[in-house]
Amino acid sequence: MSEYDDLVAERLAAVRERITRAGGVGVTVLPVTKTFGIEACWAAHRAGCTAVGENYAQEVAAKLGGQTLPFGVHFIGQLQTNKVRQLAPLVTVYETVDRPSLVAELAKRAPGAAVLLQVSTVGEVGKGGCPIADVPALLDTARAAGLEVRGLMTVGPTEGGPEAARPGFRAVRALLDRVGLAVLSMGMTDDLEVAVQEGSTQVRVGSALFGARPPLSTLVR
Ligand SMILES: *Cc1c(COP(=O)(O)O)cnc(C)c1O
Repeated sequence: MSEYDDLVAERLAAVRERITRAGGVGVTVLPVTKTFGIEACWAAHRAGCTAVGENYAQEVAAKLGGQTLPFGVHFIGQLQTNKVRQLAPLVTVYETVDRPSLVAELAKRAPGAAVLLQVSTVGEVGKGGCPIADVPALLDTARAAGLEVRGLMTVGPTEGGPEAARPGFRAVRALLDRVGLAVLSMGMTDDLEVAVQEGSTQVRVGSALFGARPPLSTLVR
């Protein structure tokens, strides 16, 4: 264990403590390693996490391609159909499936893939996600295409603080129960308590584990 490993393990313990204080039991922490090097993935793995979350297809390929990984990779970024082929050998769960064209591409390039359906409750442009009303039909489409739908995923609003996320989180949890799925990926560093209170089963946490990310504009995607 390096000093960096110790730091990540300590921060993970602090995140787990936040979850417990919010009343969460059995909530998984998905460490979000986007923009951080492979050492972040290894540190999270050594701290006991079984998968990492990544957002950018190019970065996933450059960082994780060509090696055998002892941990899973969840794709949590906006997914373009033309990136699926590149991702297929590396990604173990696609969390942002939000439209039939993506279902079709996944069925072709990653048959039987494990997926979550991304639900939009905020109506923010450019964030992706399927409106709540359209989720049951998308679920049917994904199952008919042979995908293994494990649950739902949602991203809270960027503005308004953690409480602004609560109504959307509650609506997505109700939807999860209505369609009878098990996994609910919701909550990030700033709103994980609210997400846990509203029934999240997996929080996606980046900055609380690895520190501040460089601004997006400086990144090669
Ligand atoms: C970056 C990202 C996260 C992690 O965000 P933090 O605020 O750093 O915890 C979680 N989910 C998605 C979809 C992200 O893009």
